[in-house]
Amino acid sequence: MSHLMNTYARQPVAFSHGEGNWVTDTEGRSYLDALSGIAVSTLGHNHPALVAAIARQASRLLHTSNLYRVPQQEVLSDRLAALSGLEEVFFCNSGCEANEAAIKLARFYGHTRGVDSPAIIVMEHAFHGRTLATLSATGNRKAQAGFEPLVSGFVRVPFNDLAAVRAVAGHNPDVVAVMLEVLQGEGGIHLADPDYLRSLRALCDEFGWLLICDEVQCGIGRTGKWFGYQHSGILPDVATLAKGLGSGVPIGACLAGGRAAGLFKPGNHGSTFGGNPLACTAALTTLDVMEKDGLIDQATIIGERIRQGLASQLAGVSGVVDIRGRGLMIGVELDRPCGELVRRGLDAGLLINVTAERVIRLLPSLVFSAEEADELVTRLSALVRAFLASTCAEVKP
Ligand SMILES: *Cc1c(COP(=O)(O)O)cnc(C)c1O
Repeated sequence: MSHLMNTYARQPVAFSHGEGNWVTDTEGRSYLDALSGIAVSTLGHNHPALVAAIARQASRLLHTSNLYRVPQQEVLSDRLAALSGLEEVFFCNSGCEANEAAIKLARFYGHTRGVDSPAIIVMEHAFHGRTLATLSATGNRKAQAGFEPLVSGFVRVPFNDLAAVRAVAGHNPDVVAVMLEVLQGEGGIHLADPDYLRSLRALCDEFGWLLICDEVQCGIGRTGKWFGYQHSGILPDVATLAKGLGSGVPIGACLAGGRAAGLFKPGNHGSTFGGNPLACTAALTTLDVMEKDGLIDQATIIGERIRQGLASQLAGVSGVVDIRGRGLMIGVELDRPCGELVRRGLDAGLLINVTAERVIRLLPSLVFSAEEADELVTRLSALVRAFLASTCAEVKP
């Protein structure tokens, strides 16, 4: 019997090593990795610059403490501020922690404005993490079930619905912030409309609310810009990062600017591991390689190639509802639950994910080549066709 807590429905495969966009399992079979460990391995596997930088840092110093200055954090915060347009950065170790920091920041902001019970508007189908506060912010009943009482202070509205936000503004004086993913990942690859985001920004300004963008999945170049919100030309007050930032080494960040900057003082928040020299070195190297190799433009080009390839290979195939996304965050929606495709993908030497029951989610690394993109399209189209031919459409009630 396994001594692991039973928190994952794991696939019956284990990997021993990887190279670029290919991983090899313990039996010696190789797989094309179109998932990057859920948007984490920005530079693919075994990237020489990252491996060298991590090894060098490991041989010098892994960890000190946030009781001391950490020069790598200072450099990384400068870089992130310049790229994001925000002013200051708090480092942690994961996406949920970055969002916890953002939620605490929003509440703190509310209290400075005399709101005793601050509330944050969040979205249906949002995913913000698994800690109590971020689970409460998440718009997924199944994930929340059994963990009540949830953390209070969240008001949920439909995604992409400005009128719903306005309606809350009209009757709830406790609201201090709006929190959303500009491209919902877990929820099924749903893009926020650029006009909606611009209006939301204006509404936040009108009411003095913070706009918090959860960029944990869509940030760090994945959508073809450093940050997803940059596609609509807005600047949030708070943005959170994790997944792709360290290209496999755990690191998260909560960025703040404008009204959200300068709020926390020593004692208000902290983390033992957050932003240690090793993690910051991995993040700095990830950013360096992305800039040097033009990986953000690549995300646009390769993402477009994959979407167009799938659109042409799956054209007219009934059961394919939609192919959407931006850059290397791609969803293929089917008309029926398709979780089984993950297993079929393994058999075909392909790592993919299915989210929101019916959406195949692709999150390739930013070093995916055109040939690998074509290989992905070929393998996935065949899988989808075979799957649709062997199953029945869901009967809609
Ligand atoms: C994955 C994810 C999180 C949670 O990140 P963890 O590192 O698993 O805590 C939060 N928000 C979004 C948008 C995510 O995709």
